[in-house]
Amino acid sequence: MVYRLRNNFRLSIITLLGACAVVGITPFAVFRFWQGATVAGAIDALILVSICVTVVYAWRTGDTRRSGFVLALVACGGGVAVATVLGESGLFWLFPSLITTFFLTAAVIAVLINLSSLVVLMLHGAAFGSAEQMWSFVTTAVVVSCCAYVFALRNESQRERLEHLATLDPLTGVKNRRSMDQELKAAVATHARNGQSFALVLMDLDYFKRINDAFGHSVGDDVLVEFVGLLQAHTRRSDQLFRFGGEEFVLLLPGVDQTGLQLVMTNLQSFLRRSLKSPAGIVTVSYGIALLHDGDDAASWLDRADEALYQAKASGRDCIIYAPSPGEARSAG
Ligand code: GH3
Ligand code: MG
Ligand code: MG
Repeated sequence: MVYRLRNNFRLSIITLLGACAVVGITPFAVFRFWQGATVAGAIDALILVSICVTVVYAWRTGDTRRSGFVLALVACGGGVAVATVLGESGLFWLFPSLITTFFLTAAVIAVLINLSSLVVLMLHGAAFGSAEQMWSFVTTAVVVSCCAYVFALRNESQRERLEHLATLDPLTGVKNRRSMDQELKAAVATHARNGQSFALVLMDLDYFKRINDAFGHSVGDDVLVEFVGLLQAHTRRSDQLFRFGGEEFVLLLPGVDQTGLQLVMTNLQSFLRRSLKSPAGIVTVSYGIALLHDGDDAASWLDRADEALYQAKASGRDCIIYAPSPGEARSAG
């Protein structure tokens, strides 16, 4: 439970706002019934029940998008109903509602919900004692909504930026292992769904440690950046490159068969042999390659490429080894 609250921002907001609303509204609901204001009490009770049902729904299904939207509607709809019934004293409830919509749903939807609430209140008119009061309220409500909108947009763009940064390797700028894991799983799912072929190329620079030892770590870094630049210049837009770790990289190639793959890889190998250099001369690369087969999952697919890379190293480096399909490997074993 604590794990879900920590890792799911919208679920934690839904829970927190739900709890605050229950704590804040319950005494008023009791007070209204005690005062004999049955309609206002019933509205409060209805709001409380709707909030509780929505929070439970969010926890059970994990569908925080829909639950957030419903809670935003309940918050503003409830605020409008309370203001309509109670008049001026009910209007104050609308301010927290107008702000919370931005935490619960997308900024544009929150704007629409807020504007609709204000329009309904103005058209109905019963909540306001005078035209001056109505325009004062509407103006302040619009100012509050605008501030919340700007804040929500900033928050959203920073969250996207953070998410983007969390998927990139800082040295080379290519995607990191974390996004590789996701893309490999996505490729396995696509293959299972429509049979699209994928190849996974695991590449490891040969004797890379010697470059670091002889010329320093920053020269080693330059070689890694150079390697990535050459790969990006020599692969298709649909191919994806990831830094697996250290001087190991993964290339994910969609839509290739065995024959096409061999041609692509021979070309890439000779291109890199000509182009990738350190101050000591040519830097070579070992390749372990596995085509995705039926029954593979991301881990078994990567394992087969890793085994092929191990054999490429054992065969003297600077070579390409293709992993056998799982069936061939079993019959050979
Ligand atoms: P092999 O041919 O067997 O792959 O030998 P190798 O020297 O390439 O492999 P080894 O695993 O012995 O060494 C890899 C080196 O890569 C060791 C590590 O310091 C270096 N390395 C890992 N990450 C980075 C990095 O970000 N920058 C630099 N400059 N070096 C790195
Ligand atoms: Mg290595
Ligand atoms: Mg190496």
